[in-house]
Amino acid sequence: MAKNKKTVAFIGAHADDIELGAGLAIQKFAKTHDILIIICSSQGKNRLKELKNSLNELIENCNIYILPLDENTIYEHIGTLAQYLDKIVPKNTEYIFTHNQHQTHQDHKAVSTATLTLARRIPNVLLWETVSPSEINLSSFNPQAFISGDMDKKIKAIQCHKSQVKRYSPQWIDAIKGLGALRAIQFDMYNGSGYLEAFEIVKTIIEE
Ligand SMILES: [Zn+2]
Repeated sequence: MAKNKKTVAFIGAHADDIELGAGLAIQKFAKTHDILIIICSSQGKNRLKELKNSLNELIENCNIYILPLDENTIYEHIGTLAQYLDKIVPKNTEYIFTHNQHQTHQDHKAVSTATLTLARRIPNVLLWETVSPSEINLSSFNPQAFISGDMDKKIKAIQCHKSQVKRYSPQWIDAIKGLGALRAIQFDMYNGSGYLEAFEIVKTIIEE
């Protein structure tokens, strides 16, 4: 009866991208959906171990797929990536989360573009916001959807990506938390959400 199970897919370029952009969303969807699919589009030294540790902090069960592409070369393989995604993401998936289209990191943009080829058959597609030193946001991110959750849990998960925390400094962690607080003040101050993740909506089908 897998056909009737509620499925959500999170598709990132690198091992830490999904928790960075959707660490609160994962927590929420773990409560409402039966199958959580996590797709990391590239491989990297120690990154799989860090990803597993990180997801353990956030959720109990998920299906993890690591695709055989190398970091910083994903944009050379957008067609291949789109084919992998088409095979992995089940037809009845209800939601997809991925990178936004404004990103300057070529891998991030490539994953976003490849994922958007699935949008024709998936009813809800949302694009996350990323705080990354390798990412310069040249055009504006205009979010229309927001998800709250346990920010401490999200930060604990991101800290499992030890290689990245070492590379980017603790200020990176402060910035991730700060962005969540900023979005909550901007878009939901009167309800006291505390921390929000923001998403651009590609499409959402509102059911009866
Ligand atoms: Zn990344």
